[in-house]
Amino acid sequence: MKERPKEPFVPARRHETLRRELVALLRGETLTAKELSGMVGISEKEVLEHLEHIKTALHGKLVVTPSRCLECGFSFQKRERVKKPGRCPVCRSERIVDPAFSVEAGD
Ligand SMILES: [Zn+2]
Repeated sequence: MKERPKEPFVPARRHETLRRELVALLRGETLTAKELSGMVGISEKEVLEHLEHIKTALHGKLVVTPSRCLECGFSFQKRERVKKPGRCPVCRSERIVDPAFSVEAGD
């Protein structure tokens, strides 16, 4: 890995690289944070943090397939955060499927 002398802050650059990697993966398919975490080798929590950032950076091109309740089918459409909700507001079930993410093609 080459280091440019003007940018000594490796962690920041690693974040950049990871985000680019995540975006590249999401351009091809729809994936959950868990799947992404396995693919890039960071924790699910870190993936979600990056996704929050990517969501802002891409101006709405990050497409979120909302969490859904397996019991009653309720879809968490209005949810702004990328994190998975804990419980269904309709039936109180905790059987919630993870939200999935993809990035729209173009630019
Ligand atoms: Zn429900």
